[in-house]
Amino acid sequence: MKKLRVGILGSTGSIGTQTLQVIAKHPDSFEVALLSCKRNIKLLSNQISQFNPSQVIHGDTTALNYPETYKDCDIVINGISGFAGLTPTIAVLQSDSRLATANKESLVCFGTQLRKIANESGKTIFPVDSEHSAILQCLEESNELNRLILTASGGPFKGFNREQLSKVTSEDAIKHPTWKMGLKVTVDSSTLMNKGMELIEAKHLFSTQKIDVLIHRESIVHSLVEFKDRSIKALLSNPDMTIPIQYALSYPVRLESDTKYLDLSEIGILTFGKPDYERFPCLNIAKNILSKGDYEGTVMCVADEVAVEHFLNNKIGFYDISDIIYKSLERFKDGYLSDVTDVLLLATEVRHFIEDRNH
Ligand code: MG
Repeated sequence: MKKLRVGILGSTGSIGTQTLQVIAKHPDSFEVALLSCKRNIKLLSNQISQFNPSQVIHGDTTALNYPETYKDCDIVINGISGFAGLTPTIAVLQSDSRLATANKESLVCFGTQLRKIANESGKTIFPVDSEHSAILQCLEESNELNRLILTASGGPFKGFNREQLSKVTSEDAIKHPTWKMGLKVTVDSSTLMNKGMELIEAKHLFSTQKIDVLIHRESIVHSLVEFKDRSIKALLSNPDMTIPIQYALSYPVRLESDTKYLDLSEIGILTFGKPDYERFPCLNIAKNILSKGDYEGTVMCVADEVAVEHFLNNKIGFYDISDIIYKSLERFKDGYLSDVTDVLLLATEVRHFIEDRNH
């Protein structure tokens, strides 16, 4: 394998730091070409001295919106959190480097158009998300699929009833059971909106709307693929994001990993259950817009982002998040997005609509 030059967007975040762990473990396979982050200058300086990238972008990240920025990268990992990851995703697709993305918001908001852009340049959008990486690995060599099944840990509030859920705070939400993640995605996991966005992400990545969610507390089975003959393939490993990140980098080759061997005899029991759409309305909202387009995806995604900010600042409660998204989707419907200016404009309108309601 030729030494790959890797660009990392959001290098100080959860995906970024874990990507650098993978690179540090395989210095003969990867080198860092580009690091970018918005805020954490201290950690960024440490990363610069350790990995010696040829290019660094800090603070003003508008350079990320231009394809030329990625000319020294063979592959770019987009680890930016939230809506801000969209324009860099487009720029990477328009550049000569491969895109591996952990930014689900770009697919939720603009998936239809992103696939067009990718097809025109003969590219694939490679997923970093553990569920989608698992599906990709299950699909190799056979595409006679019937259905995709995304697994969900259920979040920290799995056993809570509506009454208890209406009282949870942002501090409760950020204690997530199995995965190490950033703040926004942690709150999204507690409302199951993370899983909802992954449904839409999966629709775009694998061209099907036959997708179900399966609650699986242990986070050992990372999604399943059901075929025509009703057999199912699943990918199993200990929950460790460095595995799908490494696979996104090394694909189609597999490299050694430091992660613990999976000992199923030690784990003993794996449990599965149905998601509760009534207690977790965010998942229901996402399922309902699965057949819709990028317009509804953008409204849902931006409304969620604004609501989560308010929830993290303790301005609103748990169920206000789904209420805000629901009301935004009521207000903005049946639109069409033809280019990225439309998405950005719609995002601003949705933000204003929510702020004007004084949350
Ligand atoms: Mg995931």
